[in-house]
Order: sequence, then C-alpha cells, then structure tokens
Amino acid sequence: MNFEEKRKKLVNNLKNRDYPVLTKQEVINAMLTVPRHLFVPKDAESSAYIDSPLCIGSGQTISAPHMNAMMCEYLELKEGDKVLEVGTGSGYHAALCAELVAPKGSTNPGHVYTIERHKDLVKKAKINLKETGYGNRVTVILGDGTLGYPEEAPYDKILVTAASPKKIPPPLREQLKDGGILCIPAGSKSFSQDLYIVKKRGEDFDSKRITGVRFVPLIGKYGFES
Ligand code: SAH
Repeated sequence: MNFEEKRKKLVNNLKNRDYPVLTKQEVINAMLTVPRHLFVPKDAESSAYIDSPLCIGSGQTISAPHMNAMMCEYLELKEGDKVLEVGTGSGYHAALCAELVAPKGSTNPGHVYTIERHKDLVKKAKINLKETGYGNRVTVILGDGTLGYPEEAPYDKILVTAASPKKIPPPLREQLKDGGILCIPAGSKSFSQDLYIVKKRGEDFDSKRITGVRFVPLIGKYGFES
C-alpha cells in the first residue's frame, strides 16, 4: 500500500470510530490532503498512518491523528481565520490548520502563526512546511508560546498542543478575539490532562471539558517549569 492509500485507510478508520473524532467534510479533506509521513523522521515514516503519537526529536512527540482531527473539529476552523498554535513540533498540525483556513486558491485566505520553544524543531518544521507547500500559509516563530504572539493578535482561534497548568496562560485568553475559540489540554504536568474548549464572549469565557488526554508539558512563563 502506498502512503496515499494508507492515509485514506486511516481517515476511514477515524470516520468510523464509536466516539466521534472526525465528522466534518472539510476536516476529512484536510486529513486526506496533508502528507503526515513527510512531517515525521525518516525512520518513523512507515508508522505515519497508524493512529499513534510518534517521536519527533528534542524529546517531543507529534500527537495521534485522531487528536489532530478532534482539535480541528472543535476549533470550527474556517476559511479566513487567523490562527495561533502553541507547540509547532513537526509542523503537521499547523499544516492541517492552514489547509482549513487558507485552502489553495482561496480569495480570503487566513493564516497560521505557530510558536515553538525548541530551536531544532523550529528549523525542521520550517523545512517540512516549505517542502509540503505550506511555507506561505504558516509562519513559524521561536519563542515561549505561553506569552502568545502579541504581534499578530487578536486571533480567531488558538490551539495549544502541549499540556498547560490548570490556570490557562492569561496572554492566550487576552489574545483571543471576542467570539473566538481556544482549544487547550490542561491539568497535571506528567500525568493525564483534560481537553477544554474555551469560547470568549465579551468579558466571559465559556469552558467545556471534552475528554481526558495526554500531552507533553507546556514549558514557559505561564506554563510548567522545565
Ligand atoms: N503540534 C505538534 C506537536 C506538538 S508536541 C505537531 O503537529 O507535530 C508539543 C510541542 O510544544 C513540543 O514541540 C514542545 O517543544 C512545544 N512547547 C512546549 N512548551 C512550549 C512553549 N511554552 N512555547 C512553545 N512551544 C512549546
């Protein structure tokens, strides 16, 4: 089976889960389009279409595909959205977001800003994104994402792909647009966490717990200590 066939099989499996993780046609299309095998290290390429997290270097992991799909669905990403991702890792999830907010040929393209604290990962992610055609739709920044990225704020959507402490970093709440959505795993540093969807309504934030999850820790000023 070639990579494309494997990717289709994975997407079909995710669509048929008992617990809904992949239901929206736009997200299905994005999952079918972005070549996950080009975002993982060469020796992990053959496992790229198994629904499992994989090591990407610097002690970090790319999430399992069902988690990428779920987070994209809950964020309600749409063409034109300005997105901030905290935790670039391989760049794969940023590419999925770009596929949704700035599809090829869009007359109203959005943009994805993504921050990573590991220099080596920033370098690799930039290469991965460029080689797969997302270089112009995604900007990769080296820094502490718990501070957000005020230069481009406010954002329609914010996605955090590392585990935050229970108290969500205040800059992320502040940099969300009124009516915007934040998706964030929060809880303990090294055990499990809960995935939350937070919607900003004026001065209020509606927070909803989705499910239990396990992510690598968010390290930074408003995250955990390294
Ligand atoms: N979204 C990634 C996977 C992320 S793993 C992908 O699709 O591959 C979580 C990433 O968050 C790790 O690379 C880790 O280094 C990064 N990270 C942790 N704390 C951070 C912080 N404060 N700012 C930016 N990146 C952070």
